[in-house]
Amino acid sequence: MIGFDLTPEQKALQGEARRFSKEVILPVVAQHDRDGTFPVDVMEKAHQQGFFTPLVPKKYGGQGLGVLDNCIISEELAAGCMGIYVSIFVSTLALYPIIRFGTEEQKERFLKPFCSKFSIASYCLSEVTVGSDPASMRTTAILNGNHYLLNGSKMWITNGGYADFYLVFATTDPAKKHKGIISLIVPSKLEGISHGEPIDKMGQRASNTTSVVFKNVRVPKENLLGGEGEGFKKAMAALDITRPMIAIGSVGIARSALELAAQYAKKRIQFGVPIAQHQAVQFMLADMAKDIEAARLLVWKAAWLADQGVRNSKEAAMAKAFAADMAMRVTTDAVQIYGGMGYTKWHPVEKLMRDAKVIQIYEGTAQIMRLVIARQLLQETEKTLF
Ligand SMILES: Cc1cc2nc3c(=O)[nH]c(=O)nc-3n(C[C@H](O)[C@H](O)[C@H](O)COP(=O)(O)OP(=O)(O)OC[C@H]3O[C@@H](n4cnc5c(N)ncnc54)[C@H](O)[C@@H]3O)c2cc1C
Repeated sequence: MIGFDLTPEQKALQGEARRFSKEVILPVVAQHDRDGTFPVDVMEKAHQQGFFTPLVPKKYGGQGLGVLDNCIISEELAAGCMGIYVSIFVSTLALYPIIRFGTEEQKERFLKPFCSKFSIASYCLSEVTVGSDPASMRTTAILNGNHYLLNGSKMWITNGGYADFYLVFATTDPAKKHKGIISLIVPSKLEGISHGEPIDKMGQRASNTTSVVFKNVRVPKENLLGGEGEGFKKAMAALDITRPMIAIGSVGIARSALELAAQYAKKRIQFGVPIAQHQAVQFMLADMAKDIEAARLLVWKAAWLADQGVRNSKEAAMAKAFAADMAMRVTTDAVQIYGGMGYTKWHPVEKLMRDAKVIQIYEGTAQIMRLVIARQLLQETEKTLF
């Protein structure tokens, strides 16, 4: 059976997130975008609302929500500001492998305190020389008695300067490629950890992005998540769940761009009529609306599959690839509809366009998403009727 109605609970979550976006996020968006500063107070309020811990089971103090529920919340937060939303979202990216693969002791030790007091987490996979090909990572974790000795540098780490703990992927033996990768839960207060200055980015400027350096950091052996040789699988499993959550951020950005463009088109007069009456402008608005709708449906399907416990790598990649490209197109067209005004800092549409770009890059680039889709597609076509 297919249905698109939200449940009363989902409508309530949507309303709560929309209110938060309007009352807490929107008033500070322009300032943090301009200054490139991290809105700690907004983060604290978002944590209080439970937006940092939607997937954490209630027994550890989280919200116990599903991936689809969370996508409904996420669209509203991203509609306010994608940079702020992504800063909230990254904690889920780091917590999800613990929820899925952690021991009971690890869940008690890390999830409970994270839920009960304001905390931030980061996900450390990428390095300067290693982005799309994480199996070639250079950060090492060598077992030494009761500790792993962690050495290396991670790059592009969202919340890197503010995290209470990092979920770090490292190799026990670079020659083993993906089979050598492990994941470690690394409290940021351990000796030997430092981070770089915030990276001055084109968009999503309210998010904090830094390098994080680990120098002879002694990580207790009991902070190993799952077994050795399992780290790569865990990193990928987390991405299948979180890609729909990033994809829905694209829907949020694009929705805001469409709303602004439609309002502007109704007010702006050229050739004696509002530009919304020119068919070329109407077609742009119509394309924006249909592509947003299509992206949302792809995301909802990928999220629904995740909630059913069905492997969704292909659908998550489709949702992420389509939604990211859609957001880039829609925000670019919103600037077009604003004309010269769209190209200035006087109106918010240029920010939406800058914020959209990086969604085609992080959580797997547009090209890598297509590789994931094609790989599975080619396997599936071996089983067709003809
Ligand atoms: C703002 C921001 C926040 C981020 N946050 C995090 C974070 O919190 N944690 C984290 O671990 N990482 C994070 N990242 C890193 C991000 O995931 C990587 O930037 C991304 O995976 C791409 O890696 P790269 O930048 O090294 O590009 P590269 O891998 O060098 O790719 C460069 C280009 O080559 C293409 N390419 C590469 N390989 C192939 C191939 N096989 N076939 C076709 N094309 C290919 C890519 O698609 C891309 O167009 C963040 C990045 C940014 C910009």
